[in-house]
Amino acid sequence: MKTLVNPVAAEPTPDFAELVLQVHSIGKNALAPHADLVDRDARFPAEAFSALREAKLLSAYVPCEYGGMGLNLLQTAEVCEVLGQYCGSSAMIYAMHCIQVACVVHHARESDYFQDYLRQLVDNQLLMASATTEVGTGGDLLSSVCAVETDGSRFKLEKKAPVISYGEEADDILVTCRRSAASPASDQVHVMVRRGDFTAVPLSTWDTMGFRGTCSSGFTLTAEGETQQILPTSFSEILTVTMHPYSHIVWGSLWSGIAMDAVNRARAFVRAEARKTPGETPISAVRLAEVDQVLQEMRHNVKSLAREYQDLLDMNCRDAFKGFGFSIRTNNLKVSCSQRIVEIVGKALLICGISGYRNDSRFSLSRHLRDSYGAALMVNNDRITKLNATMLMVHKES
Ligand SMILES: Cc1cc2nc3c(=O)[nH]c(=O)nc-3n(C[C@H](O)[C@H](O)[C@H](O)COP(=O)(O)OP(=O)(O)OC[C@H]3O[C@@H](n4cnc5c(N)ncnc54)[C@H](O)[C@@H]3O)c2cc1C
Repeated sequence: MKTLVNPVAAEPTPDFAELVLQVHSIGKNALAPHADLVDRDARFPAEAFSALREAKLLSAYVPCEYGGMGLNLLQTAEVCEVLGQYCGSSAMIYAMHCIQVACVVHHARESDYFQDYLRQLVDNQLLMASATTEVGTGGDLLSSVCAVETDGSRFKLEKKAPVISYGEEADDILVTCRRSAASPASDQVHVMVRRGDFTAVPLSTWDTMGFRGTCSSGFTLTAEGETQQILPTSFSEILTVTMHPYSHIVWGSLWSGIAMDAVNRARAFVRAEARKTPGETPISAVRLAEVDQVLQEMRHNVKSLAREYQDLLDMNCRDAFKGFGFSIRTNNLKVSCSQRIVEIVGKALLICGISGYRNDSRFSLSRHLRDSYGAALMVNNDRITKLNATMLMVHKES
């Protein structure tokens, strides 16, 4: 696999088409065969991440100048969509890792420490996790209870984090906390804590309905390190410019991948049915046409916002991210995709009938449906809709 030449190419390059084929091959060989057991046992998809590391895909979004693949957001989102077709948990972990990488790539490259970190990430294929959710603030990303304490060039922090996906597997974790013990809840920084410098004492387990392989247990995280591990940009800026849009786009992409696999299973079922009654179009084929339409809308929505975001990044229009219009559209995408995925998998289930309902059938949609319901909770849709309601009181599309 050659390094991609244009780190911000808006259009897929021929090399990228080659990479997509390689990701499909990883999906078929390292994700799909283990997806059911990863789900059943709620275990980390180790085979998937060994293959992704071997293909250097953990540094897909790291610019070429640091040795990464230099994919842009559109391309990274497409990788997430492909992975979602084979194992929702693996795709979710990959997407969450890419979000953390993007926070560093977009907001910390002025720092020698983080430039060096990006090179280490490439060489060692480091896996990054996130600790934003906190006991006491829940899914409110814009406030923290915990605070970073600095003493000269050293810091320490402690955070009660009820959900840290793949916390036990991660090499490094980006943690949100107040800038200091005297800072208000909203004055937050983003701190990189490194394996070896943090301890994670279990707070809760992860025995959930879906995304079981993300192993998102809770921990009391205690960490220390050098103050240069604090990202040089405020967290509110990181959230606005990167974490918010990037998350909703890569999540929407991997959810689209899960929905695509559900529709593919439904298509295989309809084909098998049609073979039994040659010359007749089964009613399930009409349902297939209907669900395909919803899937197309979902994918189109993700790609449209991804392109808008990529264009803004390419033009370095950082102020545009702060406008209510872009924020509202990003929120709408998340809420809409999290609803569409449940609708699509539900429709596919109706097509496959009892074969989709069974756990022991090649048409089984149990994992897909259970994963789907997690989408609305990852930053609760009610929180997002309430934010949009507030912004829409003053914002009007022109
Ligand atoms: C698969 C998965 C993986 C995750 N991985 C991580 C991770 O790696 N790191 C991490 O930090 N987090 C992670 N999360 C957490 C996630 O993103 C949410 O922040 C968390 O699930 C929110 O938890 P909650 O539902 O208890 O809290 P809340 O978001 O607080 O919601 C609880 C309830 O209160 C309501 N509510 C609260 N405040 C408001 C408000 N202002 N407006 C309207 N309604 C409100 C909500 O609607 C909901 O009914 C993950 C979640 C999932 C599902």
